[in-house]
Amino acid sequence: MQLYSTNDRNNIVSFSEAVVKGIADDGGLFLPVSIPTLPKSFFKEMESLSFQDIAHIISKELLKDEISDNDLNKIISGSLDFPVPLVKLDQGLNILELFHGPTLAFKDFGARFMAAMLSHITRDSKENTVILVATSGDTGSAVANGFYGIEGIQVVLLYPSGKVSHIQEQQLTTLDKNVTALEIKGTFDDCQRLVKQAFADNEIKSAIKLSSANSINIARLLPQSFYYHYAYAQLKDKSKPVIFSVPSGNLGNLTGGLLAKEMGLPVHKFIAAVNANDILPQYLHTGKFVPKPSVQTISNAMDVGNPSNFARIVSMYDNSRERIDGVVFSRSYSNLQTEASIKELFTKYDYVADPHGAVGYAALKDYLSEFPGNYNSIILETAHPAKFSDIVEKIIGKEVNMPDRLAQCMKKDKRSIKISSDFEDFKSFLATFAADKNII
Ligand SMILES: *Cc1c(COP(=O)(O)O)cnc(C)c1O
Repeated sequence: MQLYSTNDRNNIVSFSEAVVKGIADDGGLFLPVSIPTLPKSFFKEMESLSFQDIAHIISKELLKDEISDNDLNKIISGSLDFPVPLVKLDQGLNILELFHGPTLAFKDFGARFMAAMLSHITRDSKENTVILVATSGDTGSAVANGFYGIEGIQVVLLYPSGKVSHIQEQQLTTLDKNVTALEIKGTFDDCQRLVKQAFADNEIKSAIKLSSANSINIARLLPQSFYYHYAYAQLKDKSKPVIFSVPSGNLGNLTGGLLAKEMGLPVHKFIAAVNANDILPQYLHTGKFVPKPSVQTISNAMDVGNPSNFARIVSMYDNSRERIDGVVFSRSYSNLQTEASIKELFTKYDYVADPHGAVGYAALKDYLSEFPGNYNSIILETAHPAKFSDIVEKIIGKEVNMPDRLAQCMKKDKRSIKISSDFEDFKSFLATFAADKNII
């Protein structure tokens, strides 16, 4: 598959190059030069296919010129190895649960697939690689889990001390083997700055092979198109128009859906459900893209003031607000509205949602009242409610079941290395670390 940079259509690279680079040299994001339409036979037989079968067929269509069928099979069965149930709440109202991966959030799809791809692509390299990840919470543990135990790879997570939830901190600091958690006395922005500085530092770069696993990597986007197909395949009556409501922040999940539509999936409308960080609905309303500092909300994984995948979306639709508006409906919801949605889902359907999925429900309801009709609607539920039990339990007045995996993780001892946000401290940590692990 050939990919171009959103900053320059003539800057073209292979899939392997795009995965290793992450971001184009010109600062743009990678997108496929052409997106293949899936064959009619696929849509005819999809009902009988497993999630992994669907993932395999789509990846093959996209990547057959670079990765063998057998290798694709291994990558998919090793990384996308958890269930993706479609739960029916009511006639025409469904929830696609994307939180059954190891860290209980939908980031597991992208992070695990990317990790498997990157290890596959760099399998012949003799050098050890250090993956640096700055995280504000969820991404770090999903990425670390994806690379967990893979030979030749060391993961160093940087997270802001005291600024992640207790559950998130346990998930970040209780992996051992090849994962090291660095607790930075500073903010998430400090963590990101340290990673960027390390990549720009010639001394570090000549001694250690560094790689980043950032959220804009194309290998994180592709698997996020698979489950749209799988959800559609599960629908009993396919005659009604299909709507997906996508709780959104950086718009990566939404972009995965847009790719699925380009591949031929008959989607009537995507709903980009956002919290108080309302950059996308404002853009659709005014035609102006105005990034803002992010606002803190209870659906904190969507607290994004400058959604990075916006560049991909405008590129896919030739910079036309009208064309994007034809495919995407977007609305913003407050914390109070989010809480009311958690309550309504529980009282009306006996369903316990997390704050992100609840924003998806709120936006779907508004769409249905503005455009009444007989639809098949699917809300993507992006996190397990137990990750937000403090918020959810207060609203539903009942304990949220904690999955076994999370309960185990909460019992483990935290292991982190505390350092300041000073670059020299980080640099000397990296030197000692590399010597310890025999990387230099
Ligand atoms: C990251 C995340 C989102 C937002 O997804 P984007 O691809 O950034 O739009 C929504 N919900 C949860 C739980 C997340 O972790």
